[in-house]
Formats: sequence, C-alpha cells, structure tokens
Amino acid sequence: MAHVKALRCRECSREYPIEPLNVCDFCFGPLEVVYDYETIASVISRERIQAGPLSMWRYHDLLPVDREAAVDINAGFTPLVRAKNLARCLGLEELYIKNDSVNPSFSFKDRVVSVAATKALEFGFDTLSCASTGNLACSVAAHAARAGMKAYVFIPADLEKGKVIGAAIYNPTLVAVQGSYDEVNRLCSELADNYRWAFVNINMRPYYAEGSKSLAFEVAEQLGWRAPAHAVVPGASGSLFTKIWKGLNEFSKLGLIGPVRTSMHITQARGCSPIVEAYDADRMVVRPVRPNTIAKSLAIGNPADGYYALRTIKESRGSACVVEEDEVVEGIKLLAETEGIFTETAGGVVIMGLKRLVEQGRIKPDEPTVAFITGNGLKTQEAVESVVKPLRIQPTISSFEEALGQRARVS
Ligand SMILES: *Cc1c(COP(=O)(O)O)cnc(C)c1O
Ligand SMILES: [Zn+2]
Repeated sequence: MAHVKALRCRECSREYPIEPLNVCDFCFGPLEVVYDYETIASVISRERIQAGPLSMWRYHDLLPVDREAAVDINAGFTPLVRAKNLARCLGLEELYIKNDSVNPSFSFKDRVVSVAATKALEFGFDTLSCASTGNLACSVAAHAARAGMKAYVFIPADLEKGKVIGAAIYNPTLVAVQGSYDEVNRLCSELADNYRWAFVNINMRPYYAEGSKSLAFEVAEQLGWRAPAHAVVPGASGSLFTKIWKGLNEFSKLGLIGPVRTSMHITQARGCSPIVEAYDADRMVVRPVRPNTIAKSLAIGNPADGYYALRTIKESRGSACVVEEDEVVEGIKLLAETEGIFTETAGGVVIMGLKRLVEQGRIKPDEPTVAFITGNGLKTQEAVESVVKPLRIQPTISSFEEALGQRARVS
C-alpha cells in the first residue's frame, strides 16, 4: 500500500500506524487516513480510472486498501440522472440526481462498508459489526455474508421494518437495543474495547469514512470531469458530507478536474438538526439533541463529524438547511412523481432542502447542482403508506368505468 502513509489526528496532527484505531491517544481527536499524493499522481489518470471496473473500485488508488482482496458486492457507479422535470418544477436549469438508492443493499452505505470490510480482513478480523441507524446494518450484514465473516449489528429497536428485514435476511446476529442511535453507539464503543471485532463505524471509522469519497469521484467523472456548483447532501454524523468535499478536492489536487468551486449544503430534518442549529446560531460547536424525526437514517443527535461538517460549510461557502417533519413525505413524492425515483425519508429531506435553497436564492437557476439521494424508498414504506388509493373494481369494464367516473367527480 505505497499510496497510504499513516493515520493522522485531525486536531494535533500526531501520526499513527495503519491499524484499527479511530481516536488520538493524546487529544481524543478523530484519526484520518493520510495519502502519498505524489505516488498516487504518478499512476492515476482519467484513462486508468475509465479502464477500471464499473463500481466504486475504479477509484481504488484513492481508497486505503489493497484492491485485489476487496470485499465487493458491486457498490457504486450508480446513475447520475439529469433531472429535467424536477429542475423545471424548482426553477433550475441544470439539476442532477445522484441516485445512490440503487446500491446492492439499497443505500450509499455499501460504499463505506465495502472499504471497512476489506480493511477488516486485511487486519485479520473475522467479525464485522456496527452501530446503525438502519442502512448500515443492512450493508454490514450483506458484506459480512459475502466475505464469510460473522456479523453483529446493533440497531435502535424502533427502526422501520424494511431496514430490519433488509439486515436480518443476511443472517447476522441482529441486536435491537431499547434506546436511541446515540445510546446504541455508546454501547458499541464500550463493546469495541472488549471484543476483537471490526466495528465499521468505530475502530474502523477512518477507513470506512473514506469510502464516501467515491460518491464525489463518480459525480465528477459523470459530469464530464468537473465539479458541480452546488452539492446538496443529507447529514447524520456529517461524515458523508465532509468526505464528498474531500473527494472533490483530491480529484482537483491530482489534476483530474479543475479548481473546485462547489458550495456544500447539508440538510437535516427538524426533529434532528443539531448541525443546522449550530450553523444558524453561528456556532462551531454542535450541541447534542434527542432525535425525534421521521428521517430515522439521519437520527444522530450527537454527530461525530458535526464540527468538521461546519468547517466544510465554511470552506466551501455552503450552508445548512432544515426541513420540516411534515415536508419530508412531500419531498419523497416530488422526486417520485417528477423523476421516477423512489427514495427514503433521507431523500425527502434532500429534495425539500434543495427546494428551500433555490427559494432562498442560495442556488441560482443556471448553476449546475447535484442532489445526493442516498437511500431507497422501499425501506421506509410506512412513511408513505397513505399514497395507496387504488380504484377498487370488479373484473368488468363497466365496473372500471364506473370507478373511473367516480374518481373524476371527486378530484
Ligand atoms: C447514514 C446515512 C446518511 C448520512 O450519513 P453520515 O455520514 O452519518 O452523515 C445519509 N443518508 C442515508 C440514507 C444514510 O443511511
Ligand atoms: Zn490528537
């Protein structure tokens, strides 16, 4: 792994060897992977990337693992859709949906887990684990199955059925905890000290988080090797948001794209919006909240990367945007009805956040914008059950026409 140098503390810059570590012993700051960009620059090129597999592993030069042994269920290389109908509806000229809801376990988490699982095998772990708001559980269970590893996934007991079944089907040990995600996470941090397991978002977090960069790489490549003017991204821990920014800047540093002038916008739902609250109050310190939101995949009250998300907003001249709880379903429907894409509640937050950013004039009509849709609507069906209003008929033409006539009179 000539392209990876070390882990480095984001606060005090102390360096650590490439091991299953996530916090600095001296200052408790988070550790981050440091690359040797000179080595990478000497091999990487657009042609080399384009000759790679049609998955996130085409960017392996910028991921902290050996590619040959990747635990790969084919995450990534998801569609970037030119969203003309939604654009017209919102008053934009150049809008794209990065549809990451079509990953193998139906969320962007497959990108981070593919890297974490690969690294876990490199380190010699035989067990993959996580604290999850739902999608991570599905992805960890799927990758563990693929890798022949044992899996222990911890979830809050009140998750949507689609996520519980979407994880359980791969036969992990599924642990439903009576508590919030933040309590699940605290429990798992304690367990990580006692069990030699690879917790993808705890002791494997520095490697795991790097997987999110592949979303930025793909968008830049799919836009014809350029960065958008705006990125609208959902926020839970804030990790994805910061890594999209890191990914765009790495591509630029390596000369694969020009200068990055992207404004990064993070969106959260009202019932769990600690990052937006800090942004609105002009604070760099995120105050933890107790989540109560329909967007359960974003229900992290104490976001590990909240501070860095706020820094990303500053560096990129972006913003943070809150969406009301009762708007989330409207966002899901709007995307479905205009573009034929069925997203989960987190995607509803993104679409309504995008709408608000346009209304506020933060996104101008002619500025190329990408909205990141990170999870699939079939996993949060209970949020939108009210859309089901079929015409109930007998199997005859007259019954059909009568029902049609009735509906026309009603609407
Ligand atoms: C986990 C998740 C996110 C946010 O991830 P963070 O990196 O923790 O901010 C966004 N969307 C969906 C669907 C998720 O599952
Ligand atoms: Zn430190």
